[in-house]
Amino acid sequence: MSLFVPDAGAMDALGRELSQPASWRGVVWLQGDLGAGKTTLVRSLLRGLGYAGRVKSPTYTLLEPYELADRMVYHLDLYRLAAAEELEWLGVRELLTGNDLLLVEWPERGRGVLPEPDLDIVIDYEGEGRRITALAKTPLGEQMLASLPSLESEITP
Ligand code: ADP
Ligand code: MG
Repeated sequence: MSLFVPDAGAMDALGRELSQPASWRGVVWLQGDLGAGKTTLVRSLLRGLGYAGRVKSPTYTLLEPYELADRMVYHLDLYRLAAAEELEWLGVRELLTGNDLLLVEWPERGRGVLPEPDLDIVIDYEGEGRRITALAKTPLGEQMLASLPSLESEITP
């Protein structure tokens, strides 16, 4: 799936308007340059999942946990990770239980230790906006994709 997202407002709407929030569990990778909109998308996804509190970038803390009614959401940002092995002490593989969701910025820096994604999202700059390319790697990923609002007029096949 590839989607043109013209501005930050549309990016925000994308996550907020999930049709089936319950389908968001497992592992989601968010790739893209600095300022691409990874954190913006995580924030709106958390809103879509019903989280009303503050969402800050975990650039310095590495991991921010969010307690939702029915699951934990973990927001990981590996930008400052020097080596994937540093993830071992975080116990990142053991984090996920039940319906938990792990959203990872800069996942390429944790390759080998980080769990493989159910959904792989890449955000590229395109003019003033962004292009989101999302690839489902598992049936769970397919379900997550299906719950995204289509922004129909903007879809490129
Ligand atoms: P990242 O986490 O990828 O480094 P951030 O989400 O922190 O990026 O910042 C993205 C910046 O780009 C924010 O200033 C946001 O308002 C803006 N932005 C987000 N989505 C879009 C979009 N679709 N088009 C244009 N600007 C966007
Ligand atoms: Mg970020």
